[in-house]
Amino acid sequence: MKLSRQDLLKIKGKRTIKPVTSAVDRATPLAVPSTKLKNAQKFTTICPYCAVGCGQILSVVNGKVINVEGDPEHPINQGSLCSKGNALLQIANNERRLTKVLYRAPQSDQWQEKSWDWALERIARRIKDTRDKNWVAEDNGFTVNRTEAIACLGGAALDNEECYLYAKLARALGIVYLEHQARI
Ligand code: SF4
Repeated sequence: MKLSRQDLLKIKGKRTIKPVTSAVDRATPLAVPSTKLKNAQKFTTICPYCAVGCGQILSVVNGKVINVEGDPEHPINQGSLCSKGNALLQIANNERRLTKVLYRAPQSDQWQEKSWDWALERIARRIKDTRDKNWVAEDNGFTVNRTEAIACLGGAALDNEECYLYAKLARALGIVYLEHQARI
């Protein structure tokens, strides 16, 4: 007798579901336990792992993430998450996670704590100085207006819109070495 996959599922279903449903019919209704998410604050966010950019709902109690779910109202994932997205708890509640800027000066073996403003200002200053010092206005009689001293590398965590903005910024700065991790 030749069985299709559908036939097999039907047979298995009849054999396995019936005893279970009978047992459920006979069982005394259980009190629904109060859920640990009942008093949690809910926040929506975007999964940081890859460029798919799935929407997530985080449940937070006392500043600690206690649950991660896919956001059913998010147009990309519509409630689903892959195993990496589901494991976001391990990043959010991780004592080894850096939450402050650490800076190690040239030749130093010590890390210093710095503010985000300090870091942004310093990055901007280094980019501006490097660009100005290495500006190439002409090449072989052609106007090129570029710098060859800075390279930009996009990562797989950047989504479409972030890549677009990143490339725009790089090209506005005259950066020509613009690549993506996925192509290397
Ligand atoms: S890692 Fe998974 S959950 Fe996160 S954005 Fe990518 S596909 Fe979505």
